[in-house]
Amino acid sequence: MTTPAMNIPAQEGLAARTGAQRESSSKHESSSKRESWPAIRRGMRQVCPACGEGKMFSSYLKVNDSCPKCGQELHHHRADDAPPYMTIFIVGHIVGTAMLITETYWPDAPIWLHAMVWPTLALILSLWFLPIVKGGLIGHQWALRMHGFEDKKSAAPKAPRT
Ligand SMILES: [Zn+2]
Repeated sequence: MTTPAMNIPAQEGLAARTGAQRESSSKHESSSKRESWPAIRRGMRQVCPACGEGKMFSSYLKVNDSCPKCGQELHHHRADDAPPYMTIFIVGHIVGTAMLITETYWPDAPIWLHAMVWPTLALILSLWFLPIVKGGLIGHQWALRMHGFEDKKSAAPKAPRT
């Protein structure tokens, strides 16, 4: 048989536990799962990975401090030299393959044509891929909550920069 006096600490303990659980579950809700692929696709379109509307870049490769639409802070990103590295990898494979195919099917192609086409193609493709790759990488960092891309403080609405 249990006395009411014995029950009180147990109930308090239970109340404390459920309170803690409620807190942790609400914390869990605020840090809901961020899907990587949609975030990467939004980044590759050079829009905010959170809302998919605000522009990610203020110029060619300059990332906005925060999204002009939803206020998601974007300055946390640490893309660093990964985008050029990936761009070189992609463009190198495309141009290298094209050179080999050309050599195979048109072995007598004049050297001046090679000298004109491949550097130009490499330059154009690199400039085209670089912001796409950088955007995708930042989107992925956002989805993984890397480098300060957490919830709460970063999700607080902020006046758009003019
Ligand atoms: Zn946004």
